[in-house]
Amino acid sequence: MKNINIEEQVKLLVELQGLDTQILKIEIDLESIPEELERVEEAFKEKSGNLKKLEEGVKMLQLKQKEKEGELGSKETSIKKFQGQLYQVKTNKEYTALEGEIGRARADNSLIEEEIIKILDQIDAENQRIAKEREFLKAEESKFAQDKKRFEDEVQRIKSEVDGLKTRRSALAERIDKSILSKYGRILKSKDGLAVVPVAGDSCQGCFRILPSQVIHEIRMKKDLVFCGNCARILYIEE
Ligand SMILES: [Zn+2]
Repeated sequence: MKNINIEEQVKLLVELQGLDTQILKIEIDLESIPEELERVEEAFKEKSGNLKKLEEGVKMLQLKQKEKEGELGSKETSIKKFQGQLYQVKTNKEYTALEGEIGRARADNSLIEEEIIKILDQIDAENQRIAKEREFLKAEESKFAQDKKRFEDEVQRIKSEVDGLKTRRSALAERIDKSILSKYGRILKSKDGLAVVPVAGDSCQGCFRILPSQVIHEIRMKKDLVFCGNCARILYIEE
């Protein structure tokens, strides 16, 4: 460790660790953005699903309407048939029976007509809901587009922030001795992003164990890097 100013090197390491902490935190934030965007997108898709359901509902009603109109048509045909037969009957009894049939078919038809009117009302109401839903979705779509743009801008902003920090980091790292830098890097990885820790009172602020006075003495000597005997982090005393 000749020609190396340990005091300065440790100060640089503390500064480097500050940057590494910021970079790590920002990179974690960055990872959460695609997930958030996906959630917003899912919510939007779910809302579009409501419109599909409403449209399917109207289709079902329209089928029912056709079916009822078919029934109405075939009843009308039977009424015409009965009416034709009226002129051919020979007895009063047959005539009365036919009139009865015609009456029943007409009664059936007015029920069917009422049902058709009900179905048409339902279709109207559903179509109004669909129109409202379409308007709502249009607004939601533009909200979603805005959210997406906001997320993309945020990603760009964060990325340039990280780039700036990384540039500062490499400039700083160049001033640190290679062997010290590689020790720092190894500890940082194995100790959850905390490689250099101050001593407060007599204890290591990485693992909070009391340090032997010999260790404190070695730190004060500033001749070499001093590691915590318990957690193996690099120790320094704050001025
Ligand atoms: Zn420790």
